[in-house]
Amino acid sequence: MILKHFKQIILLAAGATSIAVTLSIILFVTAHARASQTEVIFLDVGQGDSVLIKTKYGQNILIDGGRDNRVLDRLGRNLSFFDRKFDMVIATHPDSDHIAGLIPVLERYQVDLLLDTGVLHDSNVFEAMREVIQQKQILVRFVESEQRYEFGEGVILDVLFPNKSFVDKDIDDNNAASIIVKFSDKEIDYIFTGDAPKEVEDELVNIHGIYLDSEVLKIGHHGSDTSSSDLFLSMVTPEVAIIQVGKDNRYNHPSFRVLRRLQDRSIPVLRNDEMGDIRFVSDGEFVEMR
Ligand SMILES: [Zn+2]
Repeated sequence: MILKHFKQIILLAAGATSIAVTLSIILFVTAHARASQTEVIFLDVGQGDSVLIKTKYGQNILIDGGRDNRVLDRLGRNLSFFDRKFDMVIATHPDSDHIAGLIPVLERYQVDLLLDTGVLHDSNVFEAMREVIQQKQILVRFVESEQRYEFGEGVILDVLFPNKSFVDKDIDDNNAASIIVKFSDKEIDYIFTGDAPKEVEDELVNIHGIYLDSEVLKIGHHGSDTSSSDLFLSMVTPEVAIIQVGKDNRYNHPSFRVLRRLQDRSIPVLRNDEMGDIRFVSDGEFVEMR
């Protein structure tokens, strides 16, 4: 399936870009290029989030790991047997449907850098993750401000949130500290919002405005009505929305209200519970689903 309208949207975004994210820039140098295409794969891990990014320059990035070991099977299907390294892993927030699956990943793969909120959480899963990080001496960077990571020409990961420090804080709603990133392969943009609620979406709109414009949006909080406000959708104007959700989940995700908001905007919805893994392949100018 080729998403035909992308180019038009891209040109609009390129003409209007005002990059508010310039604080810290980190360059990733890599030894091997991986052909000319970048893959972004929304992994079918049941009720939870997990996204694998394989850049055209050969780096691997993992955003969240779902709620259990299922992620290992999905990674096995999408990475070659010898590909055992992540240049970056992002733990968007410490709820178990995002980090439980990261534990076996951190144990079995080489992880060069882990981005974390620094939020404290009282759970066995959280403690187990801290233990692995300690045992394997994994480099952790807490997100306390906007950051930019460059993986090669045009392949950029902007961390948009948190723009303040949650390090060592025990907060009521972990979702409100979710790490939010915009990933770009030149003109193809993706936004991943973790489980961020509408209040955080509002803040992003205020700060970044049209810079949020992206072709692909991972819908916040598995399609819960607490996310995906009209305002946010009207700023991101995605060509396609992905909902990472498990079959017959007990939260009744996604909410019919969110589905209606997407339908009202004629935004196609792709769901992991209906489609399994959802893979996008881009060359920097066009993107297609395979
Ligand atoms: Zn979640």
